[in-house]
Amino acid sequence: MTGFNTRAIHAGQDPTPATGDVVVPLHLATTFKQDGVGGLRGGYEYARSANPTRTALQEALAALEQGRTALAFASGLAAEDTLLRAVCEPGSHVVLGGDAYGGTFRLISRVAARWGVEHTPADLNDVDALRAAIRPSTRVVWCETPTNPLLNVADIALTASVAHEAGALLVVDNTFASPYLQQPLTLGADVVVHSTTKYLGGHSDVVGGALVVDDDELAERLAYHQNAMGAVSGPLSDWLVLRGLKTLGVRMDRHQANAARVAEYLLGHPAVASVRYPGLPDHPGHEIAAKQMSGFGGMLSFRLAAGEDAALRVCERARLFTLAESLGGVESLIEHPARMTHASAAGSPLEVPGDLVRLSVGIEDAEDLILDLDQALT
Ligand SMILES: *Cc1c(COP(=O)(O)O)cnc(C)c1O
Repeated sequence: MTGFNTRAIHAGQDPTPATGDVVVPLHLATTFKQDGVGGLRGGYEYARSANPTRTALQEALAALEQGRTALAFASGLAAEDTLLRAVCEPGSHVVLGGDAYGGTFRLISRVAARWGVEHTPADLNDVDALRAAIRPSTRVVWCETPTNPLLNVADIALTASVAHEAGALLVVDNTFASPYLQQPLTLGADVVVHSTTKYLGGHSDVVGGALVVDDDELAERLAYHQNAMGAVSGPLSDWLVLRGLKTLGVRMDRHQANAARVAEYLLGHPAVASVRYPGLPDHPGHEIAAKQMSGFGGMLSFRLAAGEDAALRVCERARLFTLAESLGGVESLIEHPARMTHASAAGSPLEVPGDLVRLSVGIEDAEDLILDLDQALT
């Protein structure tokens, strides 16, 4: 197999034989001419079922995650919804790890619950708690690592073995790490989930999602639901994510170099009570992260010694760090999880502290980012 960056640029993206396009064309056609009834030229029939731009993206994503099949969706949550419908039925149970993404928690606890799927939150860093949460009806153990927004780290190989003992699938949301830093299927996960909206797209200009699997039977089941439910990504989105993938490696290198500098700066600031970044040696998940990731990523969060008002003030005073939800784009973002991205987890076991600020560290010059935080914290 070729290296990661080579795959990001070439997998699924061979120039088209007829024209030699070096970049995968944006195919907008919704339907494809048949040579006689059922005589499909390239296997394409109707664009919900398959579209050549989406096929290219799916092949590239599968190659990057080292899975056999990837499927692209209209958003990360559309991918998650399709997955839950494909593998659960009324009475099925999901174990949901720690501080999962607020939207994932809402989907499982409020939407899937209405069609009979039950769930139990569990701390995936505590194997006994995980085992205790698992029931005979558990179909899925849902793991995010590192988590959003607390940057907790779960041991993927260990979680996979516990899930598999119980006959459940291990789903890993790999949005924060991206396949450049972590490839969960190689560690025993059954399904990788992505919000391609984040690092894979990388430029804050496309919403998309993906599922990646290695098992052919599971792939077939998911592909059936992708088509039957219809939450597919559009061709322009696919094209933008494909373009983003090509620079994923160089972007992640800079994201994490900048994040490490910012983490170090915050650690030394008197207004900061604590910094959550898996690259810091005293982070509780540091050793596991060092074992299963090739780098520590571009996301971090920190708590303000003076509490929630101070956290809100920093978010509002930052200028280069744009106050906005989402993450993973080239520009740095700052947000207040308790009131913004994770507001839907308020009052639940997944509630996040009010004095917490989350940063998506972009690829600007680190000196400028630190100067901005310095003025915001003063
Ligand atoms: C954003 C996000 C999602 C949801 O993806 P959308 O593309 O917004 O639907 C899921 N998981 C994580 C970790 C995310 O950051």
